[in-house]
Amino acid sequence: MSLSVHLLRSGKFSDKKILIIDRDEKKKNDRTWSFWETRPGPFEEVVSRRWTRTRIHGKNEFLLLQLQPYEYKLIRGIDFYNYCLDYLSRFGNVEFIVSDIERIINENGKAKVFLQHGEAEAEFVFNSLPPEPVSQTNRMHWLLQHFKGWIIETDEPAFTADEATLMDFRVSQHHGTTFVYIKPFSSCRALVEYTLFTDRLLRPEEYDEGLRRYISDILQVKNYRIAETESGVIPMTNFPFPSHQGRILFTGTAGGLTRPSTGYTFRFIQKYASALVQSLIRYGHPYAAKKPLPRRHFFYDSVLLRILRKGTVPGHVIFTRLFQRNEPAAVLRFLDGETSLAQELKIISSLPFFPFLKAAIRQL
Ligand SMILES: Cc1cc2nc3c(=O)[nH]c(=O)nc-3n(C[C@H](O)[C@H](O)[C@H](O)COP(=O)(O)OP(=O)(O)OC[C@H]3O[C@@H](n4cnc5c(N)ncnc54)[C@H](O)[C@@H]3O)c2cc1C
Repeated sequence: MSLSVHLLRSGKFSDKKILIIDRDEKKKNDRTWSFWETRPGPFEEVVSRRWTRTRIHGKNEFLLLQLQPYEYKLIRGIDFYNYCLDYLSRFGNVEFIVSDIERIINENGKAKVFLQHGEAEAEFVFNSLPPEPVSQTNRMHWLLQHFKGWIIETDEPAFTADEATLMDFRVSQHHGTTFVYIKPFSSCRALVEYTLFTDRLLRPEEYDEGLRRYISDILQVKNYRIAETESGVIPMTNFPFPSHQGRILFTGTAGGLTRPSTGYTFRFIQKYASALVQSLIRYGHPYAAKKPLPRRHFFYDSVLLRILRKGTVPGHVIFTRLFQRNEPAAVLRFLDGETSLAQELKIISSLPFFPFLKAAIRQL
């Protein structure tokens, strides 16, 4: 959907038929995206919260991070969908079809999409259907970032509205790396999300229990209402997702745009969409678009995933130290893949040296 917005904003594709096919009408607030930027981004109109200060709670440490020149921004799924659908509805060449996609193939120099009822053919198909999980091997890791969040409303002020919590590790680490993040909308309303980086999902009631405990024991909030819920699973993997097969181009998580070590994807999707549009304008095809995360970052993340998978260093030690020993802006730039090799080595050297060296050698 966002790729279509990027295409039409360029002013060059109003004569091309654009079909968006999704099984979901996109009428529910099914997710909340957060990401950081130094300047207004392509969907600035729908940013509903922004913070320049964020917190990290280690097991015993508390860090208050000043993010400037970055802002940590929040977009509600429903605002994003409404914005895109409204924008696209102004163009006569765009059609939104609500249908299950059964198969996508290359045939006779075109890409063909088989729907529940009927089929569609196109010069290019940009495919963001969720990828199938892949079995882990010694060097190929497939962990899951899985979470459940509640937007809660409290009777008494319980949140500092101008500080988001990136990670709070003061929860049981029994299942593996586990933390809570908080995105406050006001002092009495916030999204509180219980998150794990592990290779197995929990039973549904375990997420609820994690949230309940955190809210009562750590936030010390007794009276609250759950206004909304969201949940999700994002693969954290170094699997080399192909960029295309013939005229089928992969994007989103299926295109390898999820940063393996963090699960952050939104901004990479927007950067890649912009690169696809530039390639189409310049060359008449999308193949020259470069993925936004440089290849060497997949190696760094492979090492981290290996450590998390084997449990050689607890995740809370790694993530707390990353922010404790580096400037927050430098870490965010690193996570965006916008650092030089020298800056990356400096950041990596702040992590436990021998476990990372050993994991790097094994990963090679
Ligand atoms: C709850 C949640 C919160 C997240 N929060 C963040 C965040 O804060 N920051 C961040 O950077 N990333 C976040 N992510 C990760 C990532 O940004 C999102 O998952 C993002 O939506 C990925 O985009 P996508 O295009 O790959 O997949 P999606 O946006 O999930 O799009 C895939 C589409 O395929 C459709 N579909 C699936 N199967 C079929 C089928 N057979 N036929 C037709 N349609 C089908 C689905 O309906 C869906 O609309 C979050 C993910 C989730 C689930």
